[in-house]
Amino acid sequence: MVRPITIVGGGLAGLTLGIGLRQRGVPVTVWEAGQYPRHRVCGEFISGRGQGSLHRLGLLDGLKTLGACAATSAAFFTPTATVAARPLPEAALCVSRFTLDHWLAQEFQRLGGDLQTGERWAGEYGEGIVRASGRRVEPAAGGWRLFGLKVHARDIRLTADLEMHFGPAGYVGLCRLPSGETNVCGLFRSAVAIPDLALRWREWLGGSAGSVLHTRLAHARFEEASFCSIAGISLRARQALGQPEVCVGDSLSMIPPVTGNGMSMAFESAELAIPPLLRFSRGELDWLPARQQLAQTCDAAFTSRLRWAAWLQRALFHPPTRAVLMFLGARSDMLWRGLFEHTR
Ligand SMILES: Cc1cc2nc3c(=O)[nH]c(=O)nc-3n(C[C@H](O)[C@H](O)[C@H](O)COP(=O)(O)OP(=O)(O)OC[C@H]3O[C@@H](n4cnc5c(N)ncnc54)[C@H](O)[C@@H]3O)c2cc1C
Repeated sequence: MVRPITIVGGGLAGLTLGIGLRQRGVPVTVWEAGQYPRHRVCGEFISGRGQGSLHRLGLLDGLKTLGACAATSAAFFTPTATVAARPLPEAALCVSRFTLDHWLAQEFQRLGGDLQTGERWAGEYGEGIVRASGRRVEPAAGGWRLFGLKVHARDIRLTADLEMHFGPAGYVGLCRLPSGETNVCGLFRSAVAIPDLALRWREWLGGSAGSVLHTRLAHARFEEASFCSIAGISLRARQALGQPEVCVGDSLSMIPPVTGNGMSMAFESAELAIPPLLRFSRGELDWLPARQQLAQTCDAAFTSRLRWAAWLQRALFHPPTRAVLMFLGARSDMLWRGLFEHTR
């Protein structure tokens, strides 16, 4: 007996899981509301253990042939302080989501996966159905509305492979991409209704006059077609145990973007989901124990990381704590490595 698996959402988590299951002969259908290729709001900086998942699934080399490049240094800027470029404890991978998601979709289909694009799943999450539908939408949390913006640009000179610029309303990451492009991506919060982002994104991403960010982007040539935005971001850490569905990626829990670890969690959770789903598909395990087994594994892998990331995110939005972190981070290798280790 072979039971098919349906995956709702063809982002990184859904497609990676689909590929892993197809490699093991499981019949899989992925439902994706959008089309490929498409731009996504993302810093496009893959940091952490997810690279190991990609390697074990035989995807890492393919990604490198796509042109994914390594990031080995990072620098940090606030209105009052700078942490000059320093080596990352572990290299990250940088690749455009326009390329990455499309390539994974093609890989999934090459392996015989059934990909239904332009179709929004509106059914129940019953037996054999996995939720990989991305972040849970939350219009506001603690009085703040969180939103994200992304655009690609050229003619930006960076002092490190990744520059993080913190301002009063949020942070903007500038990340070197293959072929001379730079990803300009920001997470912001607003206490009032979010303005029309399609019209005003340059103001948010451009930094205030006199800031280092503003200088960096002074001669940038933005690729307008790559602009995208999302609102209603929820960064509340969620436990997998107790969720009524089998979830992978952001639908399980979204880690604050400053860690550059969301894509990694999507790959890792997809890899963790393969063994219980394979056993379910073969009729060796019922759906409920498969779901519980996966939830336990995910909580063991992610709970501590999500806690640290939530703390870091709060600290970075609080200028006095951020100033202390910047001061110590510039001087203490132990703190630098420790924060990296706990959020990867
Ligand atoms: C501002 C910002 C910056 C970020 N920067 C980074 C970074 O630098 N590094 C990093 O690692 N992570 C970053 N992330 C996080 C990263 O983008 C996510 O963690 C990652 O995309 C999660 O992948 P996913 O597959 O779970 O979800 P997604 O990539 O969001 O995919 C979910 C898919 O499900 C589809 N879908 C939803 N509902 C349905 C439905 N009912 N039927 C069919 N399809 C459906 C959607 O169309 C979508 O394609 C950032 C996030 C933000 C907001």
